[in-house]
Amino acid sequence: MELDLGDPTPNADRTLLAPASLASCELCPRRCRADRTAGATGVCGAGSTLRLARAALHLWEEPPISGETGSGTIFFSGCPLKCIYCQNHEISTGNFGIDVPEQRLAEIMLELQDQGALNINLVTATHFAHLLPDALRAARARGLHIPIVYNTSGYERTEAVRELNGIVDIWLTDFKYADASLGRELSHVPDYPEQASRALARMAAQVAARGGVVYNEDGIMQQGIIVRHLVLPGHADDSCRVLDLIWNAAGDMPISVMNQYTPNERMRTDGGAMARAVTDEEYEMVLDHADDLGFSTVFWQEGGAVSESFTPAFDTTGVLRAADGPILPRA
Ligand code: SF4
Repeated sequence: MELDLGDPTPNADRTLLAPASLASCELCPRRCRADRTAGATGVCGAGSTLRLARAALHLWEEPPISGETGSGTIFFSGCPLKCIYCQNHEISTGNFGIDVPEQRLAEIMLELQDQGALNINLVTATHFAHLLPDALRAARARGLHIPIVYNTSGYERTEAVRELNGIVDIWLTDFKYADASLGRELSHVPDYPEQASRALARMAAQVAARGGVVYNEDGIMQQGIIVRHLVLPGHADDSCRVLDLIWNAAGDMPISVMNQYTPNERMRTDGGAMARAVTDEEYEMVLDHADDLGFSTVFWQEGGAVSESFTPAFDTTGVLRAADGPILPRA
């Protein structure tokens, strides 16, 4: 596949991310064209109102993201992908969260910075990306100075990546499957490898145009990219092909190869390979392949890392102002 790197320079001309685009939403590669301004929702479950599930410090991202004090994670409700093994299924498919005014997003960023966050980590913001330019502008004007991390499934339109240039400092992007049929089976998405490859190539080109990956004196990433891959039980061969695609699209960028897959209730009920953890042999096979390809920065997890501790409690922490008092989340 030939990858179009596009123009990697920051561009303030944003049409896809303009609020008006919500009337016929094409923010993600599903391109539902749902009229979200008229009450319709697309596959992602998002309507016209910003909906958030949690905003808090998180210590379990890669070391250059979480450091010792934490990444300021903001979990957006809903998701364009529908991964049947998702650990965050209450929010990705169940759309758990609280509707908040758009202005609240900038406030939350500032509150997380005040709590000591090393960065603002937007977790699955794809379907709310149209809100980011204004939110960032408002937050920066009020003193936000830490980097913006865009934490994504990797299923992004290249147009969105282009328009996020100048907003996003660090791409923390998944690359889930090399085989499109696996994407169809496990995430109900028709064209994952093609879309993820194109998007990743654009992200990597932007990073290169800005001078590459930059860390501060404490080893905390200030700009750059980390490409994540979660090894799935029974699919180590596909994982190796994913690494080939990452190398082809982005070259020697930092990667994070994870073995924290934990079968959810549905996977345990369905049985088969996805009902178990990744074996040491499967994980080592993928890590060896990363070494063979020549990746110079590979984050990996200690054996036995399968734990629900990587999944924070989705209890709407930090979503509302303290002065707002309790509001029951709508399921
Ligand atoms: S963001 Fe949601 S509504 Fe928009 S195209 Fe994607 S799935 Fe459809």
